[in-house]
Amino acid sequence: MKERPPSHARTRLLAIDQGTTSTRAILFDAAARPVRSHAIPLRQIYPANGWVEHDAAEIWQAALACCRAVLRGIDAAEVAAIGITNQRETSLIWDRQTGAPLHNAIVWQDRRGAARCAALKKRGLEPWITGKTGLLLDPYFSATKLEWLLKNVKDRSGLFKGRDLAFGTIDTWLIWNLTRGKVHATDVTNASRTLLWNLKTRDWDGELLRLFGVPRAILPDVRESRGDFGRCDPMLLGAPIPILGVAGDQQAASFGQACFAPGDVKATYGTGCFALVNTGDKAPRSRNRLLATALAQKQYAIEGSIFIAGAVVQWLRDGLQILPSAPDSEALAKRARPAEGLYFVPAFTGLGAPYWDPQARGAILGLTRDIGRDEIVRAALDAVCYQTRDLLEAMTRDVASRKSLNLKRLRALKVDGGMVANDWFCQRLADLTGLAVERPRVTETTALGVAYLAGLGAGLFRDEKDIARHWALDRRFTPVLKKAARDKLYTGWKRAVARVR
Ligand code: ADP
Repeated sequence: MKERPPSHARTRLLAIDQGTTSTRAILFDAAARPVRSHAIPLRQIYPANGWVEHDAAEIWQAALACCRAVLRGIDAAEVAAIGITNQRETSLIWDRQTGAPLHNAIVWQDRRGAARCAALKKRGLEPWITGKTGLLLDPYFSATKLEWLLKNVKDRSGLFKGRDLAFGTIDTWLIWNLTRGKVHATDVTNASRTLLWNLKTRDWDGELLRLFGVPRAILPDVRESRGDFGRCDPMLLGAPIPILGVAGDQQAASFGQACFAPGDVKATYGTGCFALVNTGDKAPRSRNRLLATALAQKQYAIEGSIFIAGAVVQWLRDGLQILPSAPDSEALAKRARPAEGLYFVPAFTGLGAPYWDPQARGAILGLTRDIGRDEIVRAALDAVCYQTRDLLEAMTRDVASRKSLNLKRLRALKVDGGMVANDWFCQRLADLTGLAVERPRVTETTALGVAYLAGLGAGLFRDEKDIARHWALDRRFTPVLKKAARDKLYTGWKRAVARVR
């Protein structure tokens, strides 16, 4: 650390993190430590019930403004490379000539494709689609969003008949704008969320393109996440910085957590929770209704999500109003009595993997006279732990069924996201899942992941081993609860879940 390179050396990395609620830029030093960041909130547009859109021009302007803000006073020539990570699945189309979006971007949460997906399911197409893409037939993914855009955007200039239309997820949109239309490309992790990309051939799937009426000519070129995505126009940031790393947010977090070996698993606890387990270099298929997806390093993962994680803490704070702030949940849970038989099932919007029950609704079960605020808060945090165990059990079954991996159980759970600032929660997660929980020093793992990818491309890191050495542990929480006690509590959780379905 003593030998600092001369200041003109290209030793910095710029990560753009385009998320659902904000756009951020983070500047990292050569050792991948965050040194500066800037964020701009993103406007949410709700045109109809279940519809969610973003203004694509606003996203690009915010990304540019964030980059300029973190580079203020710094010679842009010092930046070795740009990495881009983004909200996945969100889709838009634009005019190649003018670069103007033809409609707002349709956000991943948007449900307008629900009827179309239901119709395709009725035709029995889901297993066939899952076999190709690793995904389930759901409006969450890009295909029905793009289909809707192609059908509904009435274009006055006749673009729809020609080749002058471009489709992209948010990564593609940012690359296009940074290179001023020179590069129309996406990376494998984003492509693997479109429902149009074949996980085995690693290419757009002709049969799926026909099914959803998508002309191949409008699709971006698909590149490896650690790849060459062109250079940004020097007029934008002051230097022609190469874009050398691109990955969707969850795969970027998995890379930032150095989950490079089969069986390595990370979980990100924000509003919801996303867990990914590395399953090695052959495309997997989940037998437990989890998703199969491409990782940023020519490997694959099984992914599962929990709809309500930090959101349950938000609800205690804003809905029930029994919490002054989210961090207060720690002190309250710590002093709560271990009220036996008390379970909080936060199925506010149904239950996700592995239950997939959209009709289920939340409940608090096992209430007695002596239960107060503290116990409710504790039960809410417990629920996030039990749901994690639900996911991990399904993942373990998937991983164990792949004989070639020779993995019977997962080693540890690497965690990040807003909730993991809560030590009580992390310890409880270890106790209720039976896995050691590892919290890294940098919990901005999404931006870190693409900084690593870009840094690899720029030669600041040698290889993944080198990156794994940079990954630094903040704290490891090891389970102290006995297995019998853990399993008894979990049986109670399963019973509580059964009662809300
Ligand atoms: P997102 O990226 O989804 O907006 P963040 O990663 O910023 O989410 O995490 C914010 C979430 O974490 C909120 O839902 C909040 O309730 C929860 N949260 C933040 N701090 C704590 C804490 N100390 N204990 C429990 N939950 C917390």
